[in-house]
Amino acid sequence: MRKLTRCVHQPAVSHEGFAALVPGVHRASTIVFASAQDYRDRKQRGPDGYSYGLNGTPTARVLEAQIAALEGAAHCTLMPSGMSAISLVMLAVLRQGDRVLIPDSVYPPVRKFCATMLAGLGIAHSIYRPDASDMPGLLGADVRLIWMESPGSTTMEVQDLRAIAALARAHGILTGCDNTWATPLLLRPLELGVDIAMQALTKYAGGHSDILMGSVAVNDPDLYLRLKEARTTLGISVSPDDCSLVLRGLASMGVRVAHAGRVALELAGHLRSFASVRRVLHPAFADCEGSATWAREATGHSATFTVQIEVPSLAVLDAAIEQARIFAIGASWGGAHSLMVPMTMDDTRNWPPVPGATYIRLSIGLEDPRDLRDDLDRVFGHLDAALAKAAAP
Ligand SMILES: *Cc1c(COP(=O)(O)O)cnc(C)c1O
Repeated sequence: MRKLTRCVHQPAVSHEGFAALVPGVHRASTIVFASAQDYRDRKQRGPDGYSYGLNGTPTARVLEAQIAALEGAAHCTLMPSGMSAISLVMLAVLRQGDRVLIPDSVYPPVRKFCATMLAGLGIAHSIYRPDASDMPGLLGADVRLIWMESPGSTTMEVQDLRAIAALARAHGILTGCDNTWATPLLLRPLELGVDIAMQALTKYAGGHSDILMGSVAVNDPDLYLRLKEARTTLGISVSPDDCSLVLRGLASMGVRVAHAGRVALELAGHLRSFASVRRVLHPAFADCEGSATWAREATGHSATFTVQIEVPSLAVLDAAIEQARIFAIGASWGGAHSLMVPMTMDDTRNWPPVPGATYIRLSIGLEDPRDLRDDLDRVFGHLDAALAKAAAP
């Protein structure tokens, strides 16, 4: 072999005796075949076979298998973000003339996806109350998918996954659930009869605020084929480097979620004592919609919750949040850093009807709980003082 060729072709080296605890990062667009016939037959390798980098390398396979095992699913496919995992499900399952039901508490970009992209494809959507009390009236022959998210974004309504899945099944309708908040450590939608369990791995699985990824886990092999087919047809893949970061995050997810969840519950309880706090929306508390269902269907809580507050003005809210020294201001959650963001419920939400309600959403990270408590005392102390001042004659 001449030098120029040697630059391209590595000599074979032995892997004998090499055993590591972590999967390798296998980068590949091209997969090579032993024979021309092998190449011609590559489609026979099935949805999990290796035939082209778009379909993933062994690094992705390990992560898919681990997520599937955690969700109690037979199959899993990965997407480059949580949102793309949701849109993949909808694009794979829905056709022109179909309708999807989404809860009013859904992750807001899903609502936008339905109102813009799906509407443009002739796919309708209806918004139902998170408690599903209005769902019987919304069912119809055109409903193909019921999407759930529990607890819901910001307002944290808990949904009865088992009851909704049973109702859907009786009507031959597929169900999917966004399981990002709980992770399969605390809630396993498939065991409750849901067909599709989705996660934004961006949050607790990634766990370090430096990665975006989503997963879709299912049991039904035909549904899995449809999802894989849609993913490949759209030309979507995830990088093995990102997969290896999520694999690293998963190893510590159990202790991170357990620790941060416990600290979050303590801090949530503490916040109830502030005058400016109207309600602490956390599934462990009885005044969080569906908390009894959570106690029945889940096995704990993660570390993100919402505080509904009373503020004289948004300027006061902004000034209060800026008192924080440990909490950073930013979206996303589930990382080592604690975060807080102001939120105002806009008019697009129908339920619960609290127009103009103001919230602070908190994600508890891994800092010393005493520092976090001091920080919250600064923020909510500021709010309380401003409220008392506004009320003074
Ligand atoms: C963040 C989030 C998503 C979207 O995940 P990305 O990876 O940011 O696209 C979806 N659902 C829920 C509940 C989320 O919190």
